Amino acid sequence: MDGIAQLDEQAVRTLESASGCHGGRDTMLDAAARAGKSEAMDALMRDYPRGPHDQPQSMCPAFGSLRVGLRMRRVATVLCGSACCVYGLSFTARFYGARRSVGYVPFNSETLVRGQVFEDIREAVFGLADPDAVDAVVVINLCVPTASGVPLDLLPRTHNGVRIIGIDVPGFGVPTHAEAKDVLAAAMLRVARAEAEAGPVQRPAGTVDGVRTLALIGEMFPVDPISIGALIEPMGLAVAPPTPAREWRDLYGALDSVAACAIHPFYVASAREFAAAGRPVIGSAPVGLDGTAAWLDAVARVAGVPAAQVDAARAQALGPLRAVLDANRIDARITVSGYEGSELLVARLLIEMGADVPYVGTACPRTDWNDADRAWLEAHGAHVQFRAALEQDLAAMRDVAPDLAIGTTPLVQAAKERGIPAIYFTNMVSARPLFGPAGIGAMAQIVRAQASGRERFGRMLSFFEGAA
Ligand code: SF4
Repeated sequence: MDGIAQLDEQAVRTLESASGCHGGRDTMLDAAARAGKSEAMDALMRDYPRGPHDQPQSMCPAFGSLRVGLRMRRVATVLCGSACCVYGLSFTARFYGARRSVGYVPFNSETLVRGQVFEDIREAVFGLADPDAVDAVVVINLCVPTASGVPLDLLPRTHNGVRIIGIDVPGFGVPTHAEAKDVLAAAMLRVARAEAEAGPVQRPAGTVDGVRTLALIGEMFPVDPISIGALIEPMGLAVAPPTPAREWRDLYGALDSVAACAIHPFYVASAREFAAAGRPVIGSAPVGLDGTAAWLDAVARVAGVPAAQVDAARAQALGPLRAVLDANRIDARITVSGYEGSELLVARLLIEMGADVPYVGTACPRTDWNDADRAWLEAHGAHVQFRAALEQDLAAMRDVAPDLAIGTTPLVQAAKERGIPAIYFTNMVSARPLFGPAGIGAMAQIVRAQASGRERFGRMLSFFEGAA
């Protein structure tokens, strides 16, 4: 096949030994360029600019794409990569509750060099493309197949009427699993947009004629879209099917909205698809009192909502929010760090609840959609670190010595070793509501339960003092 033939067996062996999450990026990038993937890699670099560290510091980024595929009904997802990578990704997928099989096309240096792996992928895809069972088959190239130039763009667009979507999601080109969700979500939006532009498409489930909708971009706790729906209802708006989608026809429903809201700010390529469909995209989110007021105004602007309806929405939302905020004050110093992309929103809520938040680190980059949150946080005394390295998060936690550190697994471990109460952002914060009164209540509960543990940690530290 084109591309693959440019790498000889020795080059592929070098790739396999360079492959890994802890090094070898330059080797992989160089190989990808020689194998004809320069354009694809440049596009990834533009959408997902790198940070201070040169390899992902959290789970394999491809997990983001895999998760988006596995969570969709009637979609089959196939990985092509080294066995150890696929093992780790399958394991993580099960850990996070996937109930669907993960397809796997294995390779070795010989099948890579001869181009046989592409034939194997095509055969696997054709085998899965049963229109009675699936609407789409997704193929994800991991690090070595991407660097080797396995040309997924040469797969047919459809087979038996089933869409075929091939994406490259290498760890040396997509820095976080959050952004990898965007890679697949955007690829699907692109296909769905072309289908909608070409003619009539399937009606999304739950469509109510005459009701204008807002598309929400980002995976949220299930209650959050309901809370947002209640906020916008006085403006005559409803929530469109989610992005990433849960089934193929959701994509048409999302694209058919009046505007899109980048609730999670790292969906750069998806935002581009909404913009191409003529849908304005707004940033930030209805978090806390200030955030909700500003977000309602932004929605009203892009959706052309009459002033009386905006006033009704503000009156309905802001009074109760103020009351719940007053009843749930937090008196604690808290550092926030993570790789989910919602870190800035969480920090905003904590500050509005009374917490002192001197540091917010996120593995995600600065984008148009989180700039208002950055400005708000900086105006309230927080240092915001985009593309934060683990080392920066650790240094902030040590400097600040907070009452509670919210962060990634290694940060939580390091904090507890110092007797600082700490919780894992993904499992504790992302797994609870964030918006509306429910978000305030959930956050108050988390902080109260954890910050009171400081004295207990102190006793444990002194108990173990001197033990080697
Ligand atoms: S595919 Fe993922 S797990 Fe495998 S080397 Fe690349 S980043 Fe690491």
